[in-house]
Amino acid sequence: MAPLPFRQSYAALPERFYANAPLSPAPAPKLIRLNYALAEQLGLDAEWLASPQGVAMLAGSAMPEGVDPLSTAYAGHQFGSFNPHLGDGRALLLGDVQDAQGHVWEVQLKGSGPTPFSRRGDGRAVLGPVLREYVVSEAMHALGIPTTRALAAVKTGMTVLRETMLPGAVLARVASSHIRVGTFQYFASRQDVAGLRILADFAIARHYPQAAQAPMPYLAFLQQVIAAQAKLIAQWMLVGFIHGVMNTDNMAVSGETIDYGPCAFMDQYDPNAVFSFIDERGRYAFTNQPTIALWNLTRLAEALLPLFSEDEEESVALAGQALEQFGGLFHGAYFAGLRAKLGLKTQQAEDETFFHALFAQMQEHQADFTNTFRSLSDERVITGEYVSDTLNGLQPWLIQWRQRLTQEAEDAPAIRAENMRHVNPCYIPRNHLIEAMISAAVNNDDYTLFEEMLRLTASPYTKQAGMMRYTQPPQPEERVRYTFCGT
Ligand code: AMP
Ligand code: MG
Repeated sequence: MAPLPFRQSYAALPERFYANAPLSPAPAPKLIRLNYALAEQLGLDAEWLASPQGVAMLAGSAMPEGVDPLSTAYAGHQFGSFNPHLGDGRALLLGDVQDAQGHVWEVQLKGSGPTPFSRRGDGRAVLGPVLREYVVSEAMHALGIPTTRALAAVKTGMTVLRETMLPGAVLARVASSHIRVGTFQYFASRQDVAGLRILADFAIARHYPQAAQAPMPYLAFLQQVIAAQAKLIAQWMLVGFIHGVMNTDNMAVSGETIDYGPCAFMDQYDPNAVFSFIDERGRYAFTNQPTIALWNLTRLAEALLPLFSEDEEESVALAGQALEQFGGLFHGAYFAGLRAKLGLKTQQAEDETFFHALFAQMQEHQADFTNTFRSLSDERVITGEYVSDTLNGLQPWLIQWRQRLTQEAEDAPAIRAENMRHVNPCYIPRNHLIEAMISAAVNNDDYTLFEEMLRLTASPYTKQAGMMRYTQPPQPEERVRYTFCGT
């Protein structure tokens, strides 16, 4: 097997789509972790990747023959204001590979040094955020949520200045593409309709080939992105995930979660939870995520308008109809997911009120999001024999729930509980443990917690003996208010 069967499909696009970046030699590249299973899935030679040459490539320090990295151009709305000049300021696309199923995957380095898009940034990433993205993206994947994956984490041997001096690191991540809403905005804002069409054709071929057969392929593309995002955001909401920085440049048209910065899983349920230090107004708070997703998709629709019809009014009407589908698609996916989490199979008119009642009580009693649903997934709780501490404040709602269950087809409580345990995880990467994991790695070069967290969250629904620490919410002094993206 050739070590790297990389192609560089993006390089076939016009030159204005990307820029070639010079390499930045890393003083002492060192592998922290290689995702062997993912390497194998992609047909990459894991032994080679772990070799000194492979690690030098993963650090962005030296490329083997035939690998010509590039950085892509994009724009984006950041916290609502448009920036026409963003682009991969600290990312290198190494190339793409096709797996045995014929799916195409891009491999990208994040944090390997300056690129023509770096503006005033240093192009670097530091160890903490690299480890966070590794753990959280792999946990999301194990939860069945579309996401970029982590192929490898390496240290560069450089020290990088942030609030303090921190060890430099690079994440190698994998995505079906790194095309963002902001990539479309880049061409739209330049009135580059030809570029827009080329990008749309590329994205359709890569992600939604059926759209090419539709009577209006570009409109079908928009509809597909809307559907994929509606489903994705519903999945986030069902596990208490907060992305943190849903700028349009951090939303992939593939429907994969991308760009893990100050993200977090909620501990106690709080619809207004925000983790990004710079998100003072709570634009990207937990409960705002569906609204913001629709806002971002509206920006995508605006960018695509010139491709829908020559008649602008008609284009606007078509885009509007497509966007109107978002609410129904999101709620459909979200309510179906909540039913599964609560062991319900039938749909009833009062369900929405019933779900709201649960969340209202969870908020009032500061119930832990993950543990609430996991605690419900217990035969003895279903029958009313037992109530765990987690559920203590929820008694009035529990009575309603048991009543609601009597209206369901007769599943034995044990079977219902078992089914619920397949959708209600016990292990999510809790924020305070991520902080502890990062601090052990940065201060003591100790990766035990990192490895343990990866192992547990890889099987999020299977309880393991002796791992209580990982299911416990933080003590008040352990609570993490903010995470920094570390840029
Ligand atoms: P992010 O907030 O990580 O999604 O990044 C937003 C924009 O800033 C993107 O264009 C990034 O490439 C760029 N960026 C973030 N951090 C750095 C950095 N350290 N050096 C250069 N560019 C950066
Ligand atoms: Mg980004």
